[in-house]
Amino acid sequence: MQILENVSLKRCNTFAVEARARYLAVLESAADAGALTDWLAGRDLPWLVLGEGSNVLFRRDFPGVIIHPAFTGVERLGEQAGAVHFRAAAGERWHDLVMATIAQGAAGLENLSLIPGTVGAAPVQNIGAYGVELQSCFHELTALDLREGELRRFDREAAAFGYRDSHFKRHPDRYLILDVTLALPLEPVWRLDYGGLRDALANAPETQLSAARISDAVCRIRRSKLPDPARLGNAGSFFKNPVVSRAQAEALRSRFPELPLFPAGEGAVKLSAAWMIERCGWKGYRRGAAGVSPQHALVLVNHGGASGEAIWRLARDIQASVADTFGVELSPEPRIVG
Ligand SMILES: Cc1cc2nc3c(=O)[nH]c(=O)nc-3n(C[C@H](O)[C@H](O)[C@H](O)COP(=O)(O)OP(=O)(O)OC[C@H]3O[C@@H](n4cnc5c(N)ncnc54)[C@H](O)[C@@H]3O)c2cc1C
Repeated sequence: MQILENVSLKRCNTFAVEARARYLAVLESAADAGALTDWLAGRDLPWLVLGEGSNVLFRRDFPGVIIHPAFTGVERLGEQAGAVHFRAAAGERWHDLVMATIAQGAAGLENLSLIPGTVGAAPVQNIGAYGVELQSCFHELTALDLREGELRRFDREAAAFGYRDSHFKRHPDRYLILDVTLALPLEPVWRLDYGGLRDALANAPETQLSAARISDAVCRIRRSKLPDPARLGNAGSFFKNPVVSRAQAEALRSRFPELPLFPAGEGAVKLSAAWMIERCGWKGYRRGAAGVSPQHALVLVNHGGASGEAIWRLARDIQASVADTFGVELSPEPRIVG
């Protein structure tokens, strides 16, 4: 384990906002977890686990220790109950895991291609895209309970996944996820009815589909729709799509007939946050270096040099105008730190 002091986090978050951490603890292997708990025990400091920083917004400096799992690796464990199991280390890049499973002939993660971030963070918000969520292929994970200092295993039930939500998201900083095991079905089921995926595959017949082909199509769509954080700081979607009752959705539809609605389980409806933000006139808006992407109204961007606080103020103004117009509260998807 390496401990660095007074570290700039600008390169550790995809918004590329400046913030400093008092300490950065870089874990080079899962075995460093023991040394980490000893180190923390002697100090009265707040801590925060950070992967690639693609789902956080630092509003100010962090006065404690940032814990960064940097260990990688993907292992094929074998087949069990109609699925092939892969275990990946927390610091592995998510997209590299997707590519590794596809290279080994496995399917199930193709719709989740090109989501930035690490494997360890993926269960935290139950990452999802193109109609698939991590929970559909999650088997179990190992985490260090940082409060009790002991290793724990979580199966799907204990992980308690929801829409961009999990047990880990509801208990921030309690757990350091060390590895994640996925169960990928031996008989793949393609999920194409979302976000123009079927069109991007030129309506290819079922027999010509493969995980690699679907993954390519997902990568093409994502590259065309989302700003690349390497060029323009952002954290992907800044707000979750609000889930409301059917009655509230119908009342809104009568006032805004074009508002897109998606089924969200018994009696619940998901509204398009992007549509509402665009309708309020924010798409492409810019205030100094903070702005809203002209490509996608859900994506807040840093044009260069914006502070986390400036981005957060813009986010609050967007929330207020959507609440005024639609009577709906938008919740941020990234973790707001500070
Ligand atoms: C351009 C872009 C597109 C995106 N598209 C999508 C998308 O389609 N779908 C989607 O779901 N998300 C998307 N995201 C959000 C982001 O990629 C995911 O949330 C990703 O899982 C975050 O990974 P990370 O390693 O960067 O986590 P971080 O941002 O570093 O951390 C996120 C949260 O997870 C916690 N955490 C991180 N690692 C661990 C660990 N090992 N143990 C315990 N807690 C941990 C952190 O404390 C924090 O609360 C996008 C982001 C960007 C920038």
